[in-house]
Amino acid sequence: MNGIKAKKRELRFVIIGTGMAGILAAIRLRQSGHRQVALYEKADRIGGTWRENTYPGLNCDVPAHAYTYSFAPNPNWSSYLAPGPEIQSYFEGVFKEYGIGELTHFNQEVTRCVFENGAWQIATSGGLKDTADVVIAATGVLHHPNYPDIPGLETFAGAKFHSARWDHSVPLDGRRVGIVGNGSTGVQIVSALVGRPGKLIHFQRSPQWIMPVENIPYTEEQIAAFRADPALVDKERYNETYLTNVRSFTDAIIDCDSAQIKGIEAVVKDNLEKSIKDPILREKLRPNYRAACKRLIYSPDYYQAVQHPDVAVVVEGIERVEPEGIRTKDGVLHPLDVLVLATGFKADRFVRPMTVLGRGGMDLDQVWAKRPKAYLAISIPEFPNFFLLNGPTGPVGNFSLIDIAERQWTYIEQLIAQIEAGRCREISVSAEAMDDYEQRRIAAAKKTIFASGCTSWYLDAEGVPASWPWSYDRFAEEMATPKLDAFELVG
Ligand code: NAP
Repeated sequence: MNGIKAKKRELRFVIIGTGMAGILAAIRLRQSGHRQVALYEKADRIGGTWRENTYPGLNCDVPAHAYTYSFAPNPNWSSYLAPGPEIQSYFEGVFKEYGIGELTHFNQEVTRCVFENGAWQIATSGGLKDTADVVIAATGVLHHPNYPDIPGLETFAGAKFHSARWDHSVPLDGRRVGIVGNGSTGVQIVSALVGRPGKLIHFQRSPQWIMPVENIPYTEEQIAAFRADPALVDKERYNETYLTNVRSFTDAIIDCDSAQIKGIEAVVKDNLEKSIKDPILREKLRPNYRAACKRLIYSPDYYQAVQHPDVAVVVEGIERVEPEGIRTKDGVLHPLDVLVLATGFKADRFVRPMTVLGRGGMDLDQVWAKRPKAYLAISIPEFPNFFLLNGPTGPVGNFSLIDIAERQWTYIEQLIAQIEAGRCREISVSAEAMDDYEQRRIAAAKKTIFASGCTSWYLDAEGVPASWPWSYDRFAEEMATPKLDAFELVG
């Protein structure tokens, strides 16, 4: 690794979380010869977001072959955009194939992670204790459901649940079902349920721009060809079209006047005009902010779904929830048997509520009191050998987070190599480099399309986009080789 010749030191690693990123870290560590690796998982099985979400219509709007580990191609994806359960099975298969199960402790939520005497002391909810030289926090982003602060919510007499806590025992067919929220989740649920409930009401606080997409199933012949020739899978996974789309998308995000964002705007406006026949419904569904300000929604069938006779779109604000249903601000009561809260997640939690104390008892909760931050989304000053995957200020958008995590791992393993090679015992970004990065990042983030005048989970408490504000290529370049002068190497 990077021409390092000095004697290697055997390190112990703890990985927190067995979602996509935790599994990736474990496999990569084992592949590079590390034997001391333990994973802790709060739930009883792997999967992260794909375990937590089981709602009808769950699928990934990133092309399936691009949403796949580079080292574990999958010729068997059934369609261009894969359904959630298929993605969960894929991760379970990879987890098994690489023998990560024997390293994993399930039902063990890490509650404390404290840096003492040059090592991380880890404690779990189940009473386990561990000591690690290096901690990889792969805890995910969207896993704490956001329950809306709607008056009377607790008084609802019917069945009520959050989209990420779907209650499959609740019958929906023929009943009156209300879905609150029209992010990617609410849109997928409504599109999937249409035709089953007797009445399906979609409550929208802010309409969304919808990008049309075709989700074409792969034919048996195509799948057979993928199985026979791995080169074909590679081509499908990471081809020029995908890369061009990712580049074009990130260029659109960072430059509000770009031809790329104007192109996206033209497509979504055209989609609305051409797809929605009734002018009243069309105006209800027309957002008053720019496309891609919120995470852009890709849907092949949402506009068709909302024109079904059993579906109603309600854009009047919600006054309160009553035992019988939802009363909107125009005084109308919308009677419901089932209320689904597709109201998103508390996106600023990351590793929390875990207690994480760095050098000298520095509390991560205090460091992140204003906004969660990490240098290049990976390292935090005074939290040595503590590295985040998909941490705060990383790239978010309509592209594969697996690709992002793999690039972050390339970076992290080069930091680990410094410790292994005996160049230091502890490595973390310097406070100066962190401040410099945050200042530049915030300045650039304020110019992105995410800050162009809408609300979304991309924004922090001060309304600043909490994401990577530069191009995809710049991210790829930064991740390829760490600039070590940004880091403090101690010991
Ligand atoms: P979200 O995008 O945060 O959407 C939450 C929705 O709930 C919004 O429509 C929001 O309205 C509404 N809402 C929140 N509080 C409300 C309240 N008090 N009253 C009324 N409405 C309220 O959440 P999400 O749809 O679960 O998606 C989160 C993210 O998960 C996505 O952006 C995406 O990154 C990921 N995801 C990805 C896929 C995929 O296919 N790859 C699928 C699903 C989810 P406002 O817009 O007015 O705030």
